[in-house]
Amino acid sequence: MAAKIIDGAKVAQDIRAEVARGIKELQDRKNVTPGLVVVLVGDDPASATYVRSKGRACQEVGAFTETIKLPKETPEAELLSIIERLNHDPRFHGILVQLPLPKQISERKVTLALSPEKDVDGLHPMSMGHLMEGEPSFVPCTPGGIQQLLIRYGYDPAGKHVVVCGRSNIVGKPIANLLMQKRAGANATVTVCHTGTKDLASFTRQADIIIAAAGSPRAIKADMVKPGVVIIDVGINRVDDPTDKRGYRIVGDVDYEPVAAKAEAITPVPGGVGPMTIAMLLSNTLRAAKRSVGEA
Ligand code: NAD
Repeated sequence: MAAKIIDGAKVAQDIRAEVARGIKELQDRKNVTPGLVVVLVGDDPASATYVRSKGRACQEVGAFTETIKLPKETPEAELLSIIERLNHDPRFHGILVQLPLPKQISERKVTLALSPEKDVDGLHPMSMGHLMEGEPSFVPCTPGGIQQLLIRYGYDPAGKHVVVCGRSNIVGKPIANLLMQKRAGANATVTVCHTGTKDLASFTRQADIIIAAAGSPRAIKADMVKPGVVIIDVGINRVDDPTDKRGYRIVGDVDYEPVAAKAEAITPVPGGVGPMTIAMLLSNTLRAAKRSVGEA
């Protein structure tokens, strides 16, 4: 039987509608409008596209938003002082600094400079620490989106063996921490694989759920998965494709068709995890606004 398609675009739309209702309700009850400021340094076209999408998404759900665009030569000290100002600006409940940053700026220093109360990307060590403790303040957006896809499609990770391929700070480590917690929507047995893993297939074949976040095009092949597996493909990889007018196309970390033929369910790329990231950013921004009035 063909795998069920886990439709991230649809779930993201549902979450956006829920956030829009939540914002309306917070405005009516507390006269607070959640605000997100996005800081973009430099002119990287992909980053500019992401930032535009985030701004548009905020407007659609009724959040207040502003984008601060800075030239790529911006000194680190100047960005840090802008963040300090935004930390104290009551219009903004969330601050997002678009990564990557130009090389003269330390991403770590920038992340540390953010107020943990406004860290809607969930990347501050304080947010990471809370996540590890099992009392998350802000869950990083992509892992939060992955968990929502599993829950909303009825694939509760509880008691399942989840194999995560990748150990980055933005995907691999936080999703592993999130799904191992003794909490609803988690409580899984989690194995984390990475470039130091010997015989990746011996782990992925044991998985009830595979979360592929290696950034390696089509690395997970059909002979590496067991029948009935649930696949969350986080990868976004550009591969040459002369038949496409752009000369390339986007593929995931999973060899889609043959793996889908064995899987119970699978996320497509694009249209799976991708759309969830902005939806969870909106959700975190609403959460930050609620926390600012002592709720959530
Ligand atoms: P990264 O490059 O920072 O980390 C990749 C990780 O995968 C590393 O920890 C590495 O050890 C591991 N790895 C690499 N090759 C491997 C292999 N063959 N087997 C096992 N592990 C391997 O990447 P990232 O930032 O975590 O992103 C991973 C992928 O997800 C990328 O394709 C990225 O574009 C995509 N991504 C998508 C979204 C989204 O959909 N919203 C968000 C973030 C990242």
